[in-house]
Amino acid sequence: MNPPTIPSPLTASAEHVDAAPSNFLRAIIDRDLANGTYRGRIDRDGRPLPPVVTRFPPEPNGYLHVGHAKSICLNFGIARDYDAHGGARCHMRFDDTNPTKEGQEYVDSILDVVQWLGFSWEHQGRSHVYYASDYFETLYAFAEMLIAHGCAYVDSQDADTIRATRGSLTEAGLASPFRERSAEENLALFRAMRAGKFADGEQVLRAKIDMAAPNVVMRDPVLYRVRHAYHHRTENRWCIYPMYDFTHCVSDALESVTHSLCTLEFENNRPLYNWILTQLCELGALPPPLPKQYEFARLNLTHAITSKRKLLTLVEENHVEGWDDPRMPTLVGLRRRGFTPESIRLFCERIGVAKADSWIEMAVLDQALRDDLEPKAPRATVVLRPLKLIIDNFLEGHHEACVAPVHAARSELGQRSFQFTRELWIEQEDFMEVPSKGFFRLSPGNRVRLRYGFVIECIGCDKDEQGQVVAVHAHYFVDSKSGTAGSDLYKVKGNIHWVSAAQAVSTEVRLYAPLFMDAQPDTSERNFVASLNPHSKEVVHAYAEPSLAQALPEQHFQFERHGYFVADRVDTQPGRLIFNRTVSLKDSRHK
Ligand code: ATP
Ligand code: MG
Repeated sequence: MNPPTIPSPLTASAEHVDAAPSNFLRAIIDRDLANGTYRGRIDRDGRPLPPVVTRFPPEPNGYLHVGHAKSICLNFGIARDYDAHGGARCHMRFDDTNPTKEGQEYVDSILDVVQWLGFSWEHQGRSHVYYASDYFETLYAFAEMLIAHGCAYVDSQDADTIRATRGSLTEAGLASPFRERSAEENLALFRAMRAGKFADGEQVLRAKIDMAAPNVVMRDPVLYRVRHAYHHRTENRWCIYPMYDFTHCVSDALESVTHSLCTLEFENNRPLYNWILTQLCELGALPPPLPKQYEFARLNLTHAITSKRKLLTLVEENHVEGWDDPRMPTLVGLRRRGFTPESIRLFCERIGVAKADSWIEMAVLDQALRDDLEPKAPRATVVLRPLKLIIDNFLEGHHEACVAPVHAARSELGQRSFQFTRELWIEQEDFMEVPSKGFFRLSPGNRVRLRYGFVIECIGCDKDEQGQVVAVHAHYFVDSKSGTAGSDLYKVKGNIHWVSAAQAVSTEVRLYAPLFMDAQPDTSERNFVASLNPHSKEVVHAYAEPSLAQALPEQHFQFERHGYFVADRVDTQPGRLIFNRTVSLKDSRHK
C-alpha cells in the first residue's frame, strides 16, 4: 500500500518562508543543546567547535533533484537557524567512494545549486566543503586498527557466496571459513589488497560482528572492496574503496558532526554506524562525543521521479533534453522551469519533516511558486494563440496610448505603457462565432472590454477556404477608454486581453505538462519510461506586449490570465525571447 498523499494547502502565505519550523529533529537538537551534549568541543587546531554541526552528503553521481532540496533545506536550514542560538554550521560533503559513477561535472553542479537555493557552507570566515576521498588515508588506517584488534577480517569468498550466506530474517548467517584468520594474516592480506595484488571482487574486508544478529546489516558487513578504477580526485592512487557504511560514519566523526540526518532507508544501518564509531572510539582513534544518526522520511513527489540513477536514464535515452530540461524534477530543471529558490524553500517548509513516508502532490510545489511570485512578479500581457482583431472604425496608422499597472497591488512599481492600434492580437479562445452557453467574450453582436483599452462590439469575422476564422472585426467606442470619465457606463460581462499587432514582440513560449502520466511513475508495475507523457512539451509562437522585449534571462512574470512564466535562462538572447510556463494561475496542471 502506498503512503498517504498530502493535499495542497488552499490558502497559504509566503511570508513565513524563513521562519524556523519545528520538527522532531529540532526537538532532539534542542534537547542536546539543553543537556550540553556537544558543548565545549575543540577541533584539531584548537578552535572551538559549534554545538550543532550537520552535513549534506550527496554522492556526486548525478544532478540533485527536488528530494535533495528537502535534505539541503533541513541540514543547512538547521545550521542557519541554530547559528544564532549557540552556534551551528553545515558541511557540504561529497560522498565520493564509487569512482566509476562520479565526476567533477556533478560536483560543480551540486555546489552551484546549493548556493542557488540560498545556503552557504561558510562559517566564521571558513569554508566547509569536504570530500570523503580526502579521508581515504585515514579510513585505511582506521581499517588497519580494526583488523589489528580483531574487529575486521579479509574474506576471500566471492560476492555471491557472501550474499548467499548472510542468512535471512528467520535464519542466522553462515560464518565465512576465513572468519578466524589471525590479525597478522588479515593485515598482510589487506595490505596486499591495497597494493593491487588482487582483482576486483577477489577479496573484501568485513567487520567481525555477529553472523546471527537479528539485524542482517550487522552480519559482518563489507567495509572495503577491490575496485581497479580511476577516481576523479584520487586518480589511480587507490584500487580499494571503502563502503558507504564505513565511510559515512567515520567522515561524520572526523568532521565533528553532531546530528547526522539521513533518510529512513538507513534506519537498519544505524546500529552499524554506532558500532564502527564505538570501536574506533574505544581504540582511541576518535574522540567522544560521537555523532548520532537520525532518520527522516524522504520526499516522494507525484508525477516525478526522485532517483538520480533513473533521472540519468531519462537523460541518456534522450527522453528529455538534458538534466536541466524544464520538465525534470532536478533542481537545475526546476530552476530553468522558473521555480525560485524562495518557492522551493517554502515548499520544503510546508511539507515539513516527519518520520513516516508520504507522497506530496506536485500541486503543493506549484502553489509555493504562486505564493512566492504573486506579490513580486511584474504583470505582462502575452497572447499565446493569436487571432487577428481588426477595429474597423479605428484609423489606420493611428494609435492611442494605454497604461496598465506593473502590479495592481503595488503602485510603487509603476506602469507599463503600450499602444492601442487598428489591428490587435487576441486569444483564439476569446472568440466564438456561435457562442456556447455562458460564453461572454467576443461573438458577433457582443460587447467586451479590451483590458486597459476600449469597449468594442464584434461585427463579424473573416474565414479562409477551410472555414477557419482568420480575423475578427469590431467597432470601438471612442468614449469607453479605461480610466477615463464615463468609461464605466459601458456594462460588459467579458474582459479580454490583447496586444497591438503593430507593437507586439514575437516570442516563443514553451508550455509544459507533467513528464509522467502516472502520479507514482516509479512504484507501479509499469516501467517509469512507459509512463512518460508524450505531450509534456508544447511550443507556441506568441505575441507579447512591448515591455517584454527587455526581459532578461531568468526574469519572472505573471502573464495575465495565463500564469507564471520565466525567460528561459539558456536560450533567451537579445532579440530572441523565449519563455517557459512555470505554472498556470490555478491548479489545473495535474487534473
Ligand atoms: P539517489 O538515489 O537519487 O542517488 P541518494 O539518497 O542515493 O539518492 P545521495 O546523493 O546519497 O542520494 O543523497 C544525499 C542526501 O540527500 C542524503 O542524505 C539523502 O538521504 C538525501 N536525499 C536523497 N533523496 C532524498 C529524498 N527524496 N528526500 C529527502 N532526502 C533525500
Ligand atoms: Mg545514492
